[in-house]
Amino acid sequence: MSGSGDKVLLITGGSRGIGASVSRKAARAGWNVVINYVSNDEAAKALAADIRQAGGTAEIVKGDAGTEEGIASVFAAVDEKFGRLDGFVNNAGVVDFPSRVEDFSWVRLERMFAINTVGAIYAAGQAARRMSTLHGGQGGAIVNISSAASRIGSPNQYVDYAASKGAIDTLTIGLAKEVATEGVRVNAVRPGIIDTDIHASGGLPNRAAESADIIPMRRAGRADEVADAVLFLLSEQASYITGAILNVSGGR
Ligand code: NAP
Repeated sequence: MSGSGDKVLLITGGSRGIGASVSRKAARAGWNVVINYVSNDEAAKALAADIRQAGGTAEIVKGDAGTEEGIASVFAAVDEKFGRLDGFVNNAGVVDFPSRVEDFSWVRLERMFAINTVGAIYAAGQAARRMSTLHGGQGGAIVNISSAASRIGSPNQYVDYAASKGAIDTLTIGLAKEVATEGVRVNAVRPGIIDTDIHASGGLPNRAAESADIIPMRRAGRADEVADAVLFLLSEQASYITGAILNVSGGR
């Protein structure tokens, strides 16, 4: 345990993959963690039980980060339970099956952008509203989870996903400047190919294992390697860092 005291951290999509690693590490560092998820009750409950057993404080909150109502209910739960918000990890995100741009359906694009982009921007705003000294908050830190795809473009796979994450980079740059004098730091992490269930959800269960050839370090990353970068950006050690976008991608 170290230094975060009564501070409260909300992680969207915090129950599995990268988010779950952030939840575990943050709880170990002393944050009270609020773990949002959308459907897998078992995974969320098991993670919270693990964290509590290790002496941490964890709450789980079900809610769709791709809808206004879902996001509102998650932040309302934080308000009700803790009455403060000091850190926000804007992590919920989805991919889709490999496809060329000319084959994208409207439904696919709406889902992708509702969760990865519209929801993420709206949620960042809800976090900023609670943290900003302009609104009586005590400051805080936001870490947006972008993707190396925003630089690479993901041709023949999911250019829509890459574009949805490009918006997250830009959100990070703009929001960081907007709230820079209001006690709120805003940064992003761009993971490369990380070994989580997200690849199976996009129809490529072996993507991480088979990706070594396209990564300079010749291996996929682990969720805990991304979580370490997130924890750093949330911490006081990053007190003069805002608007930064950190690649955690093995050199890719
Ligand atoms: P993951 O293993 O598929 O886990 C997704 C998590 O997000 C789960 O906790 C899931 O909840 C939750 N979630 C999904 N849709 C949600 C929604 N609409 N509302 C609330 N929660 C939702 O994903 P991951 O690989 O850890 O990815 C996390 C973030 O990192 C995403 O933004 C992703 O784009 C980004 N990223 C990942 C990689 C990679 O290679 N893994 C690379 C670059 C960027 P349930 O358990 O309830 O489904």
